[in-house]
Amino acid sequence: MDTVRAVEVETRLNPDVEFDAVIIGAGVAGLYQLYRLRELGLRVQVFETGSGLGGTWYWNRYPGARFDSESWTYGYSFSKELLEEWDWEEHFSAQPHTERYLNYVADKFDLRRNIQFNSRVVAAHWDETARKWDLELEGGVHHTARFIVTAVGVLSAAVMPTIPGIDKFTGISRHTHRWPKEDIDVAGKRVGIIGTGATAVQTIQTIAKSVGHLTVFQRTPNWCFPLNNSKISPEEMVDIKARYPEILARCLETPSCYIHGPDPRNALEVTPDEREAFWENLYRTPGFGQWQGNFNDVLTDRAANKLASEFAARKIRERVKDQAVAEKLIPKNHGFGMRRIPLETRYYEVYNQPNVELVDVNDTPIESITMHGIKTSDREREFDVIIYATGFDSITGAFERIDIRGIDGLELKQAWRDGPETYLGVFAAGFPNLLMAMGPHGGLSNYTRTAEYGVEWITDVISFAIERGLTHVDATPAAATEWTEHVHTLGEGLLMNEVGSWMTGVNRNVEGKQAPRIMRYSGGHPAYREHCDAVAAAGYTGLTMS
Ligand code: NAP
Repeated sequence: MDTVRAVEVETRLNPDVEFDAVIIGAGVAGLYQLYRLRELGLRVQVFETGSGLGGTWYWNRYPGARFDSESWTYGYSFSKELLEEWDWEEHFSAQPHTERYLNYVADKFDLRRNIQFNSRVVAAHWDETARKWDLELEGGVHHTARFIVTAVGVLSAAVMPTIPGIDKFTGISRHTHRWPKEDIDVAGKRVGIIGTGATAVQTIQTIAKSVGHLTVFQRTPNWCFPLNNSKISPEEMVDIKARYPEILARCLETPSCYIHGPDPRNALEVTPDEREAFWENLYRTPGFGQWQGNFNDVLTDRAANKLASEFAARKIRERVKDQAVAEKLIPKNHGFGMRRIPLETRYYEVYNQPNVELVDVNDTPIESITMHGIKTSDREREFDVIIYATGFDSITGAFERIDIRGIDGLELKQAWRDGPETYLGVFAAGFPNLLMAMGPHGGLSNYTRTAEYGVEWITDVISFAIERGLTHVDATPAAATEWTEHVHTLGEGLLMNEVGSWMTGVNRNVEGKQAPRIMRYSGGHPAYREHCDAVAAAGYTGLTMS
């Protein structure tokens, strides 16, 4: 539909609606959604909590923050010109460069004029009579919109631990997700860090070079593998640009849209020598090859997984000099790849430094945060800086922090109390005209690759509705139930769905989020796309539109 007609159609039908669409969040998905909806000629507004754009890449400024997807698989693919213009500096781009990239995109496509920063959406209530959403921003300002697209991210609701005394500390303390733009000078300081997830690993390996003393408080070790990052030379970037069609096509073939796809062989079927050689080679390969490009049975077969875990444990023992420390760093409660593996650069070697201490909080639990530091069951340690790398209320957390109410005042949080129920990860039944970019049970994988698809699918539904003058689009309860059951069935038997991690919606600091749940579609992105394409081709089965 051409721009002028779209605006005319909508204005005629809904003279009292302020925005045709509101997008919540100016991260990777939100920016692209804005670009696409504006192409339809809609009155679109993005509300963004931060004072700048980029979402994950705006907030996560902690030391060492960088991609673990290959940079050249993470950029947007919708504009050939953009692909041609942008030069990645490293195979795994650091946060400042990625933030610059997203700002470059926003400037190139003049996106900023429809983004309102410093604007947290605190409530969204559906008005069934007017067929519009009423949105409330922090501070009390209200806006109305025909459609809402949530682009709130999957790891954006940061969580502090529930340790007594957390407000008492008189030094500097920060959650990694709230690292200040002006940075924190840790040089020569006594630093304590709580957490050993992917964020902590990047932080620890970076600050260990300059701190005076570092104490790492670990509750659950993770299986960390080398990132094997390197700079991209100008010649190599020319080559990457020439190969973009092939690179992007490859990403669309693999289950998680990384460049790495599973090896068709089973670990249990090859000889021990072949297995060892393959794993040694993966250990030297950049990126997620170890996780996404491993033998076919490693994430599903317990015996294969045990062998992969033994290989990984051996590597830790080789790299950490003190074997008692090495044992603490080897996960015992989950096998290799059951949680997202942190990718590291000389992380394990940090524990060979004399100024670094590893505290296993299972042996000596943290009792409190004090004025001067952290008190464990055996003693108090004093710090100048405490870093909370304690993760997120993942996938559904960002939704639950907004008071979202659909038909008859139905609360989304209440509707999802036993776990999310969505249709295709995009719709929640009873919440008309609310579309989730990268919602639960959708195609969450290599972020930009999968967000682009989700955004385009959402754009098509909205366009379909507007062209026909339809102002009420909702999933049928039956379709949502069927999709949720389908996602659960697909997720059964996958070892990673049995383990507590952000991928299964577990955060031990959040009430009601203690047990693993199936939160992600695990049939692989190609199958997800096939499903969504078929729904669209059939005129949006599973949706009611009026
Ligand atoms: P996370 O994996 O959830 O890790 C949080 C850490 O904090 C865990 O080690 C957790 O221990 C610990 N923790 C929480 N409360 C604690 C307490 N009271 N006492 C002791 N320890 C406590 O979060 P994350 O490290 O921020 O990473 C989340 C995800 O973000 C990653 O898996 C990845 O997908 C993404 N990420 C990506 C990149 C990248 O692309 N390069 C970088 C960083 C993060 P338990 O495990 O025992 O709960």
